[in-house]
Amino acid sequence: MARVALVTGGTRGIGAGISKALLAQGRTVVASYAGNDAAASAFSQETGCKVYKFDVADFDACRAAIAKIEAEVGPIEILVNNAGITRDATMKRLTREMWDAVIDTNLGSCYNLCKLVWDGMNARKFGRIVNIGSVNGQAGQYGQVNYAAAKSGIHGFTKALAQEGARGGITVNAIAPGYVDTDMVRAVPQDVLEKIIGRIPVGRLGHVEDIARGVAFLTADDASFITGSTLSINGGQHMY
Ligand code: NDP
Repeated sequence: MARVALVTGGTRGIGAGISKALLAQGRTVVASYAGNDAAASAFSQETGCKVYKFDVADFDACRAAIAKIEAEVGPIEILVNNAGITRDATMKRLTREMWDAVIDTNLGSCYNLCKLVWDGMNARKFGRIVNIGSVNGQAGQYGQVNYAAAKSGIHGFTKALAQEGARGGITVNAIAPGYVDTDMVRAVPQDVLEKIIGRIPVGRLGHVEDIARGVAFLTADDASFITGSTLSINGGQHMY
């Protein structure tokens, strides 16, 4: 039977690209989202994937959603923690709410979902977890103290959990994308974006497929010796 993959934030942007790549690999893919019903419904119609609406920052909501997915579709053997948000501001304007929202959604979600699939993966002696970090978690970024802290935290989280999963057939890896052409990046002012692209050696923004191919690689059944790694996919912008 096809393995079940859950991609959080898997209905649009990078997540939708990841969902499609895992589908092409023969996985049964379910995608989660936060509130954009129109995008989720269009994605579901296009791909045939089931979609589930819940807040990845809310542990109880995650618990209910995982129980529902596993009852309706089957045990989750592949987890891609992709859902994320930005709330950019310099320290002068960075509120506690902006800090909490970004930490809870980007990093807290990794705890919530890994915690909820962990026992099952251990019992079955198989698991593939990929957490989506960011080049800005590796290098830092002006106006993104909250986001850089959350994404940098993901890289540490990944290396620690990989050690716990290693003997149980569970691999835990991260991908650190550079700037990818999605709604998140389209929100950046055009003049700032042009400067960013000027600093990318490959000379363009990434495509969602560039990131998705990394996830497909890391979650393959025969990728069992790759764990605790961070794969940078950034057009050469930051070599780490
Ligand atoms: P988008 O904003 O295009 O999509 C975000 C997805 O996450 C949506 O499906 C959204 O749901 C979902 N989501 C957001 N908050 C929550 C929540 N609280 N609970 C459940 N789902 C949620 O983002 P990208 O595709 O650009 O980014 C995907 C990931 O890649 C993020 O983690 C981001 O930080 C990271 N990244 C992106 C880069 C880029 O250049 N785009 C660069 C480096 C990293 P809904 O559709 O309902 O809003």
